[in-house]
Amino acid sequence: PKPNGDSTAMLMKSYACQRRTPLKHHNSFLTEALEILAQNAEYNDNEGRSVAFRRAASVLKALPRRVRSMQDLRWLPCLGDHSQRVIKEILEDGSSREVESTRQSEQYQVMKALTGIFGVGVRTADRWFREGLRSPDDLIRTGQQLNREQQAGVQYYDDLQKPVTKAEADVISDMVEKAVHAVLPGAEIQLMGGFRRGKEVGHDVDFLITHPEEGKEEGLMPKITNWLKEQGLLLYQKTTRNSYLEKMDGPARASSNMDRFERCFSIFKLQKSAASCKSSSAASAEDVSTGRESEGPAEHHPEASGWRAVRVDLVVSPYSQFAFATLGWTGSKLFERELRRWAGQEKHMSLSSHALYDSKQNLYLRAKTEEEIFAHLGLEFIPPSERNA
Ligand code: ATP
Ligand code: MN
Ligand code: MN
Repeated sequence: PKPNGDSTAMLMKSYACQRRTPLKHHNSFLTEALEILAQNAEYNDNEGRSVAFRRAASVLKALPRRVRSMQDLRWLPCLGDHSQRVIKEILEDGSSREVESTRQSEQYQVMKALTGIFGVGVRTADRWFREGLRSPDDLIRTGQQLNREQQAGVQYYDDLQKPVTKAEADVISDMVEKAVHAVLPGAEIQLMGGFRRGKEVGHDVDFLITHPEEGKEEGLMPKITNWLKEQGLLLYQKTTRNSYLEKMDGPARASSNMDRFERCFSIFKLQKSAASCKSSSAASAEDVSTGRESEGPAEHHPEASGWRAVRVDLVVSPYSQFAFATLGWTGSKLFERELRRWAGQEKHMSLSSHALYDSKQNLYLRAKTEEEIFAHLGLEFIPPSERNA
């Protein structure tokens, strides 16, 4: 039976990289619920379960209409029994008991707060939770050993909790552009991550930097960060050197999402504009040079200052890998994961942010643009704004 009106559901492809997923969709009342269960599964180190819930949520994001009944889901892929039970309950009762009890649970809330600290992953947060710690304040109070990244995370916790707006991202873009062009004229800078997908807010701002003359980009990051430091614009930075060698690494390892570009996880000091700054008088009292990094995690009090802390990721890519890096750093995370799964399972290829390797032909497939990579993979091109899987 093929009743009319089900055609979109019947045509729904099963890999997220085969579908268009806009930023705004019609089923957040369901996807938010499923993503809470996905998040909770991640906190409990159950990746398989987490991905299953995320895939289910992602399918609903691609629907052109709000789901009204279980009938609407009949032909959809990726909806397991558990996800269907949750959706059914929400459709019938307005909410799911499992989702609500998860949302209310102490473990979920504490894990969310602790993994929300820059530099704190699930494993560390889980250990702290089992030791009875509940908040960033508890970490300071009990004198926990924190690495440099986590110290910065605690110090700027309140600022880093606040979403970064597109307007702030644009100001950061100007700062990065100035820095990069000061140290390497001709370099190209591209806004990546959520903002490239059209998001209006983000948890950070991501940039990819390259230079058309291959080799010019080598060792660029320390020059950029030094320039920014001299200008007093950096509150924290950790640079990791490029460790990618095509010959040694062999085919891209499909299992790992981590790439090997020269990269910098940083925290920028962003002056609040005159318009958005309520207490500009306090601004001059606080200076970036007053003992940053040397002090413990004394908290920065955002409301009292004329600036805020913003997380920024910088990545430098050789020109020949730029298309792969662009694709890999645009996201969404699920879209990336599905691209790699598609490549491996359907095409016997291995995709990373550096390269695409064809195991059948035993060769690397070159690409200058994202379009060429989609074509190599036998996929219709999906523009960044439709990769919000
Ligand atoms: P948000 O608005 O929350 O920042 P986002 O989509 O920009 O959302 P990010 O965590 O900033 O999320 O990641 C942006 C992209 O960079 C994602 O596609 C992700 O796959 C990629 N990415 C993030 N961290 C790494 C990493 N360590 N190695 C490789 N790729 C990464
Ligand atoms: Mn981001
Ligand atoms: Mn990022």
